[in-house]
Amino acid sequence: MTEREFATDVVDRLQRAGYQALWAGGCVRDELLGLTPADYDVATDARPERVKELFRRCHSFGASFGVVEVLGPRGADGEWLKVQVATFRSDGTYSDGRRPDAVTFSSPEEDAQRRDFTINGMFYNPVTKHVIDYVGGQADLKLRVLRAIGNAAERFTEDKLRILRAVRMAARFELAFDPATLDSAKQMAGEIRVVSAERIAEELRKILTNRHRVRGFQLLGEMHLLHAILPELEHATESIQARLEVLAGPTWPTPQPITFELAFAGMLHDVSNRQTSAIAKRLRLSNQEADRLVWLIDKCQSLRDAPTMRMSQLQPILVHPGIGELLALCRADAVATAQTLASIEYCERILRVTPPNELNPLPLITGDDLQAAGMKPGPQFKRILDAVRDAQLNGEVTTKADGLNLASQLRTPAGS
Ligand code: ATP
Ligand code: MG
Repeated sequence: MTEREFATDVVDRLQRAGYQALWAGGCVRDELLGLTPADYDVATDARPERVKELFRRCHSFGASFGVVEVLGPRGADGEWLKVQVATFRSDGTYSDGRRPDAVTFSSPEEDAQRRDFTINGMFYNPVTKHVIDYVGGQADLKLRVLRAIGNAAERFTEDKLRILRAVRMAARFELAFDPATLDSAKQMAGEIRVVSAERIAEELRKILTNRHRVRGFQLLGEMHLLHAILPELEHATESIQARLEVLAGPTWPTPQPITFELAFAGMLHDVSNRQTSAIAKRLRLSNQEADRLVWLIDKCQSLRDAPTMRMSQLQPILVHPGIGELLALCRADAVATAQTLASIEYCERILRVTPPNELNPLPLITGDDLQAAGMKPGPQFKRILDAVRDAQLNGEVTTKADGLNLASQLRTPAGS
């Protein structure tokens, strides 16, 4: 069973039980655009308690918002199929600029009115195959216009995250802005700061991993969101755009999609390592994301000198799991700023012609070897092993005996 079939089943079962049930929001938009939705959301007039009775395998979450997640059989990828079932609701007042203070269960019309943009405000009945559109979403999809539902200024005042969602939606679906929606979003952009860093970062991830990332970046600038989120970048927008334009996914060892870290490194390329770390912290990126981001920007600088670097310095970069992204970043920067590709091609040639066991050979000697040679374990072990490893990578020692020889020369009397 596919996710789509399961989502149809859930609607069918709710309707047979006497309730209204429809697909809602993003999945309707995606289907009308001929795209495969990432997930299907069901909206119904059944209350959450009823939904839980009708579907035994489910868990409620966002309880106060009336959302129940219904679990199905396992899908083709072995994961449980799941569909979120939400009771039609209208949102109360917003006092924190992000979330309604309370929600009231209501009708599909009112549920459509609380949604953000007309293209996201439609319903679909998968049993009768009818679109139910209270907000003019179909017309706007045809016109390719992003328009807030109702009064744009009010909608962005209620929830500032919608300003970033507007950028993401407009870029991703190649939509023009309705003028009133654009004006209000621009005016409100400074207030994006009330949105949590995590939510801002999540929108950035989605904007930057989408193939329309250049348009997304332009819109962030035009809407004055860039200034609010990343003031560090104010003066570098032209070179950033050039880099994002030519950025392609890593081709080493095979063509890969552009990751968030790679695209973000393309944006932060000219920012110092210290500032990059500060940005990563401020946006609460994961440690893994932050480490990769800083590594990419730092090593992109280093690689310019690749042909004259000692192998002991270059090798750790070449065997790093981020090397594909790094070469993609360096290439984008070189092309964007009309520099030579010589260093990048030099690295790519090494990667192509060097067998993995030569590029990353087993160390000639280990700590056990040092102990067997009568050395006591201690802080100098690592120093000696690192030095022998560097000499090995530089081709200065090639056998275990030579390695042990060098180790005994490096040995200080205190550690012997
Ligand atoms: P995606 O494909 O990125 O998931 P989506 O439109 O499905 O896009 P979701 O965040 O999954 O986005 O939200 C589902 C639906 O909920 C939206 O289509 C929209 O109708 C409504 N929605 C989501 N976030 C908001 C918001 N901040 N304000 C108003 N309505 C929202
Ligand atoms: Mg969605």
